[in-house]
Amino acid sequence: MTEIDLSPLRAELKKQFRQSMPDAKLDYCLTCGLCASGCPASDIEGMDPRKFIRYLILGQDDVLKKTNWLYTCSICQRCEYACPMGIHVGRFVYALKGMRPIEERPKNLQKSCDLQKQSNSTGIPNADFVWVVGDMLEEVHATEPEWADLQAPMDKVGARFYLNQNAKEPTVEPEEMVFLWKILHAVGIDWTYSSEWWDGANYCLFSGDPKDWEFVTRKQAETVDALGCPTYINTE
Ligand code: SF4
Ligand code: SF4
Repeated sequence: MTEIDLSPLRAELKKQFRQSMPDAKLDYCLTCGLCASGCPASDIEGMDPRKFIRYLILGQDDVLKKTNWLYTCSICQRCEYACPMGIHVGRFVYALKGMRPIEERPKNLQKSCDLQKQSNSTGIPNADFVWVVGDMLEEVHATEPEWADLQAPMDKVGARFYLNQNAKEPTVEPEEMVFLWKILHAVGIDWTYSSEWWDGANYCLFSGDPKDWEFVTRKQAETVDALGCPTYINTE
């Protein structure tokens, strides 16, 4: 009879998740694959949500700790919506991201998170953001007479809507910002940007550190509160 060596199967993660997330229903998986069928990250880096749960249940902790699939999963939760057993795959993925040592996380992702803790994920100075918005607005006024009264308000206290901005656009493709300004103008929305903490992304969610994520989220929320805007439009 052949002996099977089960020693690599630690199942420490399974025990840990069962304790820290008793409602995450880890053991209910039917292996039906509905999660994988709707997952945009399926098969990237050799993984999908069904396989992820099987590895977890079977105690293949080493595979899970090494897979870079963690960083292709966007924690969109489509799998959880599809799952007949209500299994919270995203919560397991998020927990595992947080366990990965910082030096082993994707460098660009960690860098974006670190920059975001200072202001925004591309690291451009706030003054540059304000200047680019003003410059694009001037260009529209100069070249599109039908939009001569278009506005891109900055730090407007009491505006009805607060609008954040993906930092990539003012940094490398500023003309992309103008489409939304025009839509808001056409429907008569009273809105504003902020000159601080204006970046709508939060890469610290994807790097897996809840403290960093909360820090950035609080900064963004405090900015909206300081301006007194009752509604937050998150473009991300
Ligand atoms: S949360 Fe992750 S595993 Fe689930 S559907 Fe989204 S990308 Fe796929
Ligand atoms: S949809 Fe739910 S039950 Fe089906 S394989 Fe995925 S995690 Fe398991």
